Amino acid sequence: MIDFEQLGWEVSTVGELDHRRLKAPHVKLRSATPGANGDVVYCVDLRINRPNAGQYLSSTELHSVEHFLLEGFQRYLPKNFLSIGIMGCQTGFYLVLLNEGNARKICEVYKNILTDMLSAREVPYANIEQCGNYQNHNLELAQNVARRVLEAQSNWLQVV
Ligand SMILES: [Zn+2]
Repeated sequence: MIDFEQLGWEVSTVGELDHRRLKAPHVKLRSATPGANGDVVYCVDLRINRPNAGQYLSSTELHSVEHFLLEGFQRYLPKNFLSIGIMGCQTGFYLVLLNEGNARKICEVYKNILTDMLSAREVPYANIEQCGNYQNHNLELAQNVARRVLEAQSNWLQVV
């Protein structure tokens, strides 16, 4: 059994929740799936905006922040990072990690990535060889998102 409390998550907020209850920004464990040999895949929500509150990330904001998260999680957690994806509802990102489900550790890495963004000179992989819509990027918009999420850092684990 996976001990969510031991990993630093509030047990009652793990899994699917009524989206009307969600605060944001937050970091939330969506699922933890053990394999036959004891490895565990962790799915984590990096929610940026409160659902259905009339404020959604633009396609450019989502895209540039996604590139930074992709680059950052690969760099900080090379053995654990599996994937990052945007939420279709434009309020956040899905993070998938192998064998790393510690809330404090994930928040620490997330904080480091967002902090790195503030001094970045360019959006990673924003070129025609590595991106499918390479002109749809904006460093300043992505940095504004990062700044806003960092300001709420003390409440990231307060999901509801
Ligand atoms: Zn891209």
